[in-house]
Amino acid sequence: MRGLAAGNWKMNGTGDSLSEIEALLAQHPAPACDVLICPPATLLARMAAAVQGSGLKVGGQDCHAAASGAHTGDISAAMLVDAGAGHVILGHSERRADHRESDAVVAAKVTAAQAAGLMTIVCVGETEAERDAGRTLDIIASQIDGSLPEGTDAARLVIAYEPVWAIGTGRTPTNEQIVEVHEALRRQLQDRFGTAEIALLYGGSVKPSNAAEIFALPDVNGALVGGASLKASDFGAIIAAL
Ligand code: PEP
Repeated sequence: MRGLAAGNWKMNGTGDSLSEIEALLAQHPAPACDVLICPPATLLARMAAAVQGSGLKVGGQDCHAAASGAHTGDISAAMLVDAGAGHVILGHSERRADHRESDAVVAAKVTAAQAAGLMTIVCVGETEAERDAGRTLDIIASQIDGSLPEGTDAARLVIAYEPVWAIGTGRTPTNEQIVEVHEALRRQLQDRFGTAEIALLYGGSVKPSNAAEIFALPDVNGALVGGASLKASDFGAIIAAL
């Protein structure tokens, strides 16, 4: 399966930041993997226009489960598509923590996003306390169960394993810990959907210096990258490692 390097810009970036995308395209005109950037919603349409014809994909960082209505500040899946998105990140741990998104809320968003034609990148991951308590695999399995609704289209699904304690901290799990979770995810998804073609991304402090080692691990099909996706030089090096 083709690898996917996905950048999550979070709440970073204004119009000036589009120069990073121009630099990335200039440095990596024909990457060996798929490349996706999920900018803040305010930049989505401008970024989609800037990358047109390049093969670089753009996506949203969240969407609402409803198609429209009285939800001040929220964005629907159809609005993301209208702005040029082909993907959306759902259930990121920052959304789960900051906005108290439960698995059930994430599942409703997956239904809405897939119905609108978006590829859904569903994030799961344990906290440090859960890992220390030996509950990592149980937590991940139950997040997958609860966050993927009945009727999930496996062809529109990507899973990102993002240990909460590794996001933005500079800390990463050991290779063995990543492999253990990715193997368990692969088994669970194979049992449920009957396919091994769902891309499994690792996310959490991926940077140029550790990307190649992480990408070489079995059942790691790419990365969801936060901080290191903001600069073309760093993200470019990660893309080149995949
Ligand atoms: C993320 O937010 O998805 C992430 C992985 O962040 P970082 O790469 O900065 O740890």
